[in-house]
Amino acid sequence: MPNRIKVLIIEDENAISNFIAATLKANDYTPLLAKTAGEALSMIPSHCPDVILLDLGLPDMDGIEILKKIREWSQVPVIVVSARGEEGDKVEALDLGADDYIAKPFGTSELLARIRTALRHSVQNSGNTHMGDVFAAKGLKIDFEKRKVTVDENDVHLTQIEFKIVSLLAKSAGRVLTYDFIITELWGPYAIKDNQILRVNMANIRRKLEKNPASPEYIFTEVGVGYRMIEEDNKS
Ligand code: CA
Repeated sequence: MPNRIKVLIIEDENAISNFIAATLKANDYTPLLAKTAGEALSMIPSHCPDVILLDLGLPDMDGIEILKKIREWSQVPVIVVSARGEEGDKVEALDLGADDYIAKPFGTSELLARIRTALRHSVQNSGNTHMGDVFAAKGLKIDFEKRKVTVDENDVHLTQIEFKIVSLLAKSAGRVLTYDFIITELWGPYAIKDNQILRVNMANIRRKLEKNPASPEYIFTEVGVGYRMIEEDNKS
């Protein structure tokens, strides 16, 4: 019996948790199920899941509160599963240390991609793999050390801030980064959380990188949340 990756599904709706569990089993993961926050919090230390899928709407505790409790003692990747109307919670969860989110209803391939990305980042964070000095995806190349960006071998001239934004997103490729997170990383914790500056920079970045800035191939907007860089080639 191989040592399979354990995914804890914290979800009170049977239909959804059964669907997720079946999908995970079919893809060689071991699903664990918790229907309440209480159950989940007792299962995490005893089962040590590799990834947690957290539904924000649970009967006994606010999803945000569970996340805070988990983060007091564990850095296990947490993917928030949010329903419509929970947009604010989703952003708060990301800023409180959730690794990513997925919105209901979602498809199998999207779910599996989010889990793979979360696992990869948790391995990188624990220092077990070396993060390459070059990011490559669909003709876009970013050389972090040389601070050089090319698209289909053509040089792209980014300002210093633009380069910082692009590298930050590339280093978390596949994951959504919230507006507040990006602003804090770039301008520090006391910066005014003004998304407008970020939007202006992103418009310039897209004009330089994307073939069609209106339908980007590299950096996607997650409306009301933040930005997500395309996954690297050959890594999913
Ligand atoms: Ca629910």
